[in-house]
Amino acid sequence: MLKIAFDPIYAHPLPEGHRFPMLKYELIPGQLIREGLISEDNLFSPTAVPDDVILLTHDANYWHQLRDLILPPKEQRRIGFPLTEQLIERERRIAQGTINGCYFARQYGVAFNVAGGTHHAGTNWGEGFCMLNDQAIAANYLLDKGLCKSILIIDLDVHQGNGTAQIFENEPRVFTFSMHGDKNFPFRKERSDLDIPLEDGIKDDAYLSLLKDTLPGLISKHNPDFIFYLSGVDVLSSDKLGKLSLSKEACKERDRFVLSICKNNGIPVQVSMGGGYSPQIKDIVEAHCNTYRVAMELYF
Ligand SMILES: [Zn+2]
Repeated sequence: MLKIAFDPIYAHPLPEGHRFPMLKYELIPGQLIREGLISEDNLFSPTAVPDDVILLTHDANYWHQLRDLILPPKEQRRIGFPLTEQLIERERRIAQGTINGCYFARQYGVAFNVAGGTHHAGTNWGEGFCMLNDQAIAANYLLDKGLCKSILIIDLDVHQGNGTAQIFENEPRVFTFSMHGDKNFPFRKERSDLDIPLEDGIKDDAYLSLLKDTLPGLISKHNPDFIFYLSGVDVLSSDKLGKLSLSKEACKERDRFVLSICKNNGIPVQVSMGGGYSPQIKDIVEAHCNTYRVAMELYF
């Protein structure tokens, strides 16, 4: 069964006119249920991740300031959301949803989180709508529990996974792979184990060739026993922040390629959604839903 982390708290209320499309978090499961792809039984509501698990990844001073809502104003602005208790609770639940997803992925091959992919959060900072790095937290959790020995993080959001890269820069058991817009945020990049910077305007064929030429080799070389996939849909040509020129079909083909490789190699994969900033929210939701559709087709 495809297990999907979701809780109504994911769609957090923001000030009027805020540019983050928070609504997508309730529209995605709604759409999947409406079209009969999933039922309520597929969804699970995660609890809040405990402090000690967060501290396997994030700096204590940063986390305590965040949790207690006393992060300096400049650091709060870098995050881009007004900090509230409810927002922090949301972040904790999302991170726990990704951890739970790892167990489900080990059981069923694949599992999803409707949110997450908060890859800009580093050890001691948050930025770009990211505060707790859900996949990094889950990866460190798997290592700490001795559940995995070699982890691959595939980050195909259009923005570099700078926080993830920094968190694992000295961790040989986690290989970080990021394919992202070279001239896009974050403008000061960190070093992933493998970065593929993309020119603005790259189109379907060139993008997919790069991915298809790279990923199989990474898997045979590093032989991961768990994979995290960050399936951001801000690669679409319609995206207002992405600067790439991918069609929805290519984005779906990307997802199919990644998930097929995981499945064919028998490597469990947890998928977090990441970014998507097309002006029409239906474009965002449609592209995210494609990732679920592909997973259902391949696995169930
Ligand atoms: Zn992004």
